[in-house]
Amino acid sequence: MSMKVIPYGRQDITQQDIDAVIKALTSDFLTQGPTILEFEKKFADYVGAKYAVAVANGTAALHLSTMALKVNSQSKVITTPITFAATANCVRYCDGEVVFADISPETVVLDVDKVAALLKASPKGTYQGIIPVDFAGYPVNMEKFRALADEYGLWIIEDACHAPGAYFTDSKGQQQWCGNGVFADLTVFSFHPVKHIACGEGGMITTNNKELYDKLMVLRTHGIHRDPAHLNENHGGWYYEMKELGYNYRLTDIQSALGISQLANANERMKRRRAIAERYDRAFAKAGIALAAPGKGIGHAYHLYIIQVNNRKALYDKLREKGIYAQVHYVPVHTMPYYQGLGYKKGSMPVAEAYYDKCLSLPMYPTLTDEEQEYVISVILANPQ
Ligand SMILES: *Cc1c(COP(=O)(O)O)cnc(C)c1O
Repeated sequence: MSMKVIPYGRQDITQQDIDAVIKALTSDFLTQGPTILEFEKKFADYVGAKYAVAVANGTAALHLSTMALKVNSQSKVITTPITFAATANCVRYCDGEVVFADISPETVVLDVDKVAALLKASPKGTYQGIIPVDFAGYPVNMEKFRALADEYGLWIIEDACHAPGAYFTDSKGQQQWCGNGVFADLTVFSFHPVKHIACGEGGMITTNNKELYDKLMVLRTHGIHRDPAHLNENHGGWYYEMKELGYNYRLTDIQSALGISQLANANERMKRRRAIAERYDRAFAKAGIALAAPGKGIGHAYHLYIIQVNNRKALYDKLREKGIYAQVHYVPVHTMPYYQGLGYKKGSMPVAEAYYDKCLSLPMYPTLTDEEQEYVISVILANPQ
């Protein structure tokens, strides 16, 4: 008999989701129809932003964002080494230079003090932007990054691929939702099946900036303008102009229908993720292997639940043997061979590298049952950590 595998993350597709996709398949539009707009509107409402642009995946969302903010070979952009490679790669797509700053050991997100030190050490104008990541679903304090960005004239792209539905509490006591456009210029999300909302592939960019919104809409479809107000000439109803180099980074109506249906259950699934995290926290309190629980006023989205252990490889292998497929997030980006080839060195980000040596992501998804979670906990506690 084959053992049932418990992965670190997985999608939850309901009959309602299936019905929504079938309805989309039998409608007039498979792509470029009205469902995309509906998804954009509903997602913007969900995170509290004015505008949302649906795109093919989270990586496309990042690429369009660096394009819209005019990253080029003169640009230096600061980001964290503890993220998926795409966060840094989007700067390279536009020939910009990635500058890594180390993480905070408590929160595992980009350390605002280290970024401040970096900015202070160079003349103003050296850097163009910052890309903080709401790693694991922990919401970065974007108010602090905004203050720094304003001081140095930088833009902010928030990579919230782990954090739809997360919030922090600002200095005025207001809950600020990831992607609400208050502090970040652009925020990107992913709808890959391991993320909170599954579209198969999919992504979203949210903003409160109308100019950036218009730019993204055009870049998403080849740089083509159709609005007569924006055309240099007009030969008739068929006429359009390609005015800049864009891409086909569109999401389909089929995927949007799935996204809308998934979004309807997002709050319920978030509750379940938080309940699972609490149960892990309680179980591991004595062993002292969990990351610090988020402080008051922090709405953690728990894309990942991470422990830190000295015997990481042995525990990973043991879990695997027991049908539990834990993961590691992430191998620090600056140590990837591609980035080492560009001159980045192992040893340059000591906090991130020490974190990487010990981190392990445990199963965390809404359909993980209590029994499965108990099993995961018992295997971990029965082995040396
Ligand atoms: C998943 C992810 C991406 C990329 O999203 P895709 O939809 O897979 O292209 C970017 N950044 C982070 C932090 C992610 O987790």
